[in-house]
Amino acid sequence: MLSEAGLSVHVFDKGRRPGGRVSSRTVEKDAHDFSFDYGAQYFTVRHPLFRSVTAKLADKGMVSRWPVAGEDAWVGTPRMAKLIEGLADGIDIAWGAEVTALSSSKSGWSVRIGDSDVRNFDQVVLAMPAEQTALLAGAGDPEMARRAAGSRTEPCWTVMLGFAEPLPIHEGIVKGPGISSATRNSGKPKRQGGEAWVVHADPDWSRQYLEHEPADIEQRLSERFASLIGVTLQPIFTRAHRWRYALSSSRSEGCYWNEEIGLGACGDWLLAPRIESAWISGHTLGKRIVGAGLDL
Ligand SMILES: Cc1cc2nc3c(=O)[nH]c(=O)nc-3n(C[C@H](O)[C@H](O)[C@H](O)COP(=O)(O)OP(=O)(O)OC[C@H]3O[C@@H](n4cnc5c(N)ncnc54)[C@H](O)[C@@H]3O)c2cc1C
Repeated sequence: MLSEAGLSVHVFDKGRRPGGRVSSRTVEKDAHDFSFDYGAQYFTVRHPLFRSVTAKLADKGMVSRWPVAGEDAWVGTPRMAKLIEGLADGIDIAWGAEVTALSSSKSGWSVRIGDSDVRNFDQVVLAMPAEQTALLAGAGDPEMARRAAGSRTEPCWTVMLGFAEPLPIHEGIVKGPGISSATRNSGKPKRQGGEAWVVHADPDWSRQYLEHEPADIEQRLSERFASLIGVTLQPIFTRAHRWRYALSSSRSEGCYWNEEIGLGACGDWLLAPRIESAWISGHTLGKRIVGAGLDL
């Protein structure tokens, strides 16, 4: 939208590839390949504008419905991160580029990338979890920093499990004490590879064990999953991942835009802890920046 309005847009993302909290990975172990979505498991499609974006990606084979998670649930194909790759298509994005400081200058904003690379821009948008927004916004816009600092993002410990044989249960998603979801990733559309499960601990459990070693989490969460489904597990691949900032709280602002100084923020933390909400937040901010009104 910003490019179409004639603005020159440059995106810097510290990730090495498209994903953020919608990340995927494939691994090979003992002659088996496994494909994991270790962040978000699916996304909802409810808003008409997001529905039309999703339909275009579906035409390209990059997303597909996944009724196992609900009537309005979709997944990226053949991995969740494909959704982000599709949304990022055609945008000038520098990967592996961490923004480490932001300061206002005579000509607008100075953005420091990494240790010493400084770029100047007229306007800046921060699209990241609230805690990271608060760190960068501080010097430029104390009000934005205050709001972001007041918004808490819950952590999530995740364990990926790969098996030589399918587990003897029929469900695609199971939930239980301490486990917000355990999802058969190999059962999603267009997945290749062996039996792959992703177990997400719930926020209370994740907070309790936040600073534990990954090896300890792998054991504890696997045991919990095993007792939940009543099966003795013999995974050939196990890997824990700590999401320090996973699920945002909900707010009603939708986005934040300080027109006077040309600084904005968007992301799930300004609406609701979902992929669709993050997209709507970004879209709403885009409309405010180009002055297209707010008819969402
Ligand atoms: C474990 C887990 C399970 C989830 N399950 C679901 C689900 O099933 N369905 C659903 O809809 N949602 C789910 N979510 C939430 C969903 O992933 C988020 O709501 C959504 O990804 C938010 O998008 P965002 O663009 O606001 O933030 P992010 O996806 O976090 O993207 C922010 C980007 O900013 C980059 N970044 C951060 N700081 C900097 C910096 N200083 N410099 C440069 N780049 C930076 C990051 O690399 C990242 O790519 C889940 C999240 C997690 C972690």
